[in-house]
Amino acid sequence: MGTEETIGLEKIVDKRVLPLLPLRGLTIFPYMVLHFDVAREKSVAALEEAMENDQIIFLVSQRDIAVDFPEQEDMYTVGTISRIKQVLKLPGDNIRVLVEGLQRASLDKMIQTDPYFMAEVIPKENIIDTDDLKTKALMRSVLDSFEEYVKLSNKITQETFVSVSAVEDAGQISDIIASNVLLKMEDKQSVLECFDVSERLEKVLTILKNDIEILEIEKTINQRIRQQMDKSQREYYLREQIKAIQKELGEKDSVAQEADELKARLDEIPVSDEAREKAGKEIERMAKISSGSPELGVIRTYVEWILDMPWGKYTEDDIDLGRVQKTLDSDHYGLDKVKERVIEHLAVCKLTQNMKGNILCFVGPPGVGKTSIASSIARALGRNFVRMSLGGVRDEAEIRGHRRTYIGAIPGRVISSLKHSDSMNPLFLLDEVDKMSNDFRGDPAAALLEVLDPEQNSTFRDHYMDIDIDLSQVMFITTANTTDTLPRPLLDRMEVIELSSYTEEEKLGIALNHLVPKQLKLHGEKPSNLIFEEEAMREIINLYTMESGVRTLERRIADVCRKVAREMAEKNRRRIRIKPSNLSKYLGVPKFRKDVSVERDEVGVVTGLAWTSAGGRTLLIEATPMRGDGKLELTGQLGDVMKESARAGLSFIRSKAEDLGIDPDFYKNTDLHIHIPEGAIPKDGPSAGITMATAIISALSNRPVKRSVAMTGEITLRGRVLPIGGLKEKSIAAHRAGIKKIIIPAENQRDLEDVPENVRKNIKFIIAHDLDDVLENALV
Ligand code: ADP
Repeated sequence: MGTEETIGLEKIVDKRVLPLLPLRGLTIFPYMVLHFDVAREKSVAALEEAMENDQIIFLVSQRDIAVDFPEQEDMYTVGTISRIKQVLKLPGDNIRVLVEGLQRASLDKMIQTDPYFMAEVIPKENIIDTDDLKTKALMRSVLDSFEEYVKLSNKITQETFVSVSAVEDAGQISDIIASNVLLKMEDKQSVLECFDVSERLEKVLTILKNDIEILEIEKTINQRIRQQMDKSQREYYLREQIKAIQKELGEKDSVAQEADELKARLDEIPVSDEAREKAGKEIERMAKISSGSPELGVIRTYVEWILDMPWGKYTEDDIDLGRVQKTLDSDHYGLDKVKERVIEHLAVCKLTQNMKGNILCFVGPPGVGKTSIASSIARALGRNFVRMSLGGVRDEAEIRGHRRTYIGAIPGRVISSLKHSDSMNPLFLLDEVDKMSNDFRGDPAAALLEVLDPEQNSTFRDHYMDIDIDLSQVMFITTANTTDTLPRPLLDRMEVIELSSYTEEEKLGIALNHLVPKQLKLHGEKPSNLIFEEEAMREIINLYTMESGVRTLERRIADVCRKVAREMAEKNRRRIRIKPSNLSKYLGVPKFRKDVSVERDEVGVVTGLAWTSAGGRTLLIEATPMRGDGKLELTGQLGDVMKESARAGLSFIRSKAEDLGIDPDFYKNTDLHIHIPEGAIPKDGPSAGITMATAIISALSNRPVKRSVAMTGEITLRGRVLPIGGLKEKSIAAHRAGIKKIIIPAENQRDLEDVPENVRKNIKFIIAHDLDDVLENALV
């Protein structure tokens, strides 16, 4: 081959016997000049043998560089016939040789192994592809990739690349690149073993591409690391500069200064020992943190929460029972029994010098003054008042807080309310304790129990605060609409005081004596300029509200005040009287109708009475017979107890059909449908038994029922009427609705004394022992 001649290489064609030298960790290619040190005896001997002849030696790599005395199988078979160009004796027995690779050859036979290796080798020619274009294209790709590689790697100089690109021989190019680039022995060896030039180019190309990819990844990683380093170094540097400047100016850095301020506050406040230690530690930690750290905010908030608690702030109780009575009286109309119980409770507290003990629980429908009585008590005792609503609280953490490890954690509501109250012994109202529910996030009732328990609450531990807070001086009062849904242990802790619905008379008193003056004041009106006539107020109560308490009433009064204020301003009037005749001008058309007696008596429609946590109420029960085969359909979201009670009534009717004037075979050809309107509201309980039975009888016998008669009572299979609960609330509701007669179970007679006198005066109570008594009074 011409090229070889031009470079001046000898071409060896025939099999030859040559001394062999195993190379450790090196591969030599043709055209390459390489120097290495020789120390092994056998290698030195081989070297000497070659030097004595024509300086030609066969160099072949060892498979494993760790082997000191290699045998034939420890060596690859393909190596390079090389010429020794220089031999240099080094101090010690080492010899440095400079060799030049001449031609690939494969080891054919080992002739001698001692005192040095002699081998018969077969020289190998490059195999050239006949497709010149393909080789050229491959060459170009290899050169392109090599250029890319050189750019990415800083191990190879640009000059190497220039000199490589000047080489024209494809086989040589691959060899040079392989010896310069490839790091792994095996890779180099595999290129050496490739006699086919195109194949060799392809191999080099693959290895190059692979290496380029690795280099690129390395590069991006390096860049990223450098960027991160640069950023944090920059910040560090700037921060140090700020510190240096502040030092020069004689200032402290802002965080250290803030920490000092917090420390000073901490020293002043009579916090508990535990809190002092915790807060102190956090403040110390804070001083060490750099101002940009997000942790700083967390620590600051925590320390401020500790410092903001009303440590050592106690109001002095003034239990002057006379004064308490006066305050309660001046704030509230009526409620005599409630006030009496409150006074008794306080008297006991005064005697025992102990405000803990029993916790009052005001139970009653909304708007009857539970919250406002509690705040009156606080006022009378000279305690700060704070209210916390438990309605809809499902999560224990709402009461007791989240641990500080949560992002955005804050204390629970007990602690934040206490902070709000600005004293360690406020009157603490826990509103709507019956509206708590519990789910997977823990049981809020259990947490509440701990708050209320005098044994435990001197060391109440909020998850966030993580220090004991003394709640033992707090006076707790709770409110609820009903005790039914209260957890038993909670109920046992409390002394229940019931507040019932207001009658019309009471509402009138409350409105005229309290609500009107209050609203006038709020609206900046003089009492002499806006006068509510009593009759007008009655109409507001009866036609514009339908409630147990007085919340809507208060709102309606506020509505009137607002409209009047506007009228006075616009029409320049100084004085306005609210009369029944001009009421609709201010409140629009009435929303309710009071007198049921004007309504038509109907077949199959009966007025029932129900008790709900929002007070008593009337409801209409409808029954309709249809052609069918004795099915009983019940709609209006009725509970199981209520459905069973309807069936019991029906069975009684079937057994007594003839006496009741009903076709005894009615069930053979009739279906019955009972519906209780306001179907969206779930209803349950046995107390509508007689009402449903009456509706069925009326429907089957076609006799109308008096609409002005209401009834309540459970029914047995034999038609007996059993007692029910909530008579007081039910009768107040009936009165509110304009009912004139109520049929009640005989055994409930004793409850009548609870019914407000004014209601008793206006309603006739009819005692029923069995269904006959009911029908006699209800049917027209
Ligand atoms: P509750 O807590 O029972 O739902 P509130 O205490 O909020 O009811 O009472 C609603 C409004 O009615 C308050 O403005 C309260 O002052 C007023 N109120 C209720 N009962 C009376 C009463 N007996 N005398 C004077 N005002 C009353």
